[in-house]
Amino acid sequence: MVLDIDFIISGSIIIAILIPLYIYRKKVYNFFTRKGDFKTFEENVKNFLETHYPKIKFDYSIINKSNTKKDEKLRQILIIEDLVSQFINYEYELHTQKSIHNDLLWSTYKQNCKPIKGKLPNDWAKRKEFTYRRDNGKCKRCGVNITSSDANVIFIKPIENGGGYNFENLITLCVDCNKILNPNRENKNIKNSWIEDELLKKVTVN
Ligand SMILES: [Zn+2]
Repeated sequence: MVLDIDFIISGSIIIAILIPLYIYRKKVYNFFTRKGDFKTFEENVKNFLETHYPKIKFDYSIINKSNTKKDEKLRQILIIEDLVSQFINYEYELHTQKSIHNDLLWSTYKQNCKPIKGKLPNDWAKRKEFTYRRDNGKCKRCGVNITSSDANVIFIKPIENGGGYNFENLITLCVDCNKILNPNRENKNIKNSWIEDELLKKVTVN
């Protein structure tokens, strides 16, 4: 049997291509699946923070401070940790909120503002919805847009300290700010925050 010369040449070329592809498969995989370089990471992080948290002015000096780090992934994670801690430490004082115009209130509104021991008023869902709408669907602390089902409505003055269910005592917060401002927390550090999860998605190193 005589092998066709074209067949031998093309076969050899294919093998010559496949062998290095196999040897360097990890590098090849990383090349095709990489999500971008550091610049992309930096732009995506800044863009995310500026569009989602217009109320917080982040300090990005960590980007220059961390450029001595040889490990690219470690550097990006350190930057994220710094930005998340700025988010957590952002100062916000809970204060009395805006009233809702009398014309929009219902007949039992006033009497249901007074707390009854251990029981939410029967119009609580309506109060939450009105508070969310008054706050324009945003977290009052950080300014992030939230859906009505993700909104936490909390009390400025806790019920156990004499606060009521009136709108001036209600405020809309996102899930992260609710954890931070929750008076029952001993320290401000929060685990599994939404902001951190979202920032980690911007890491460009596998
Ligand atoms: Zn928030």
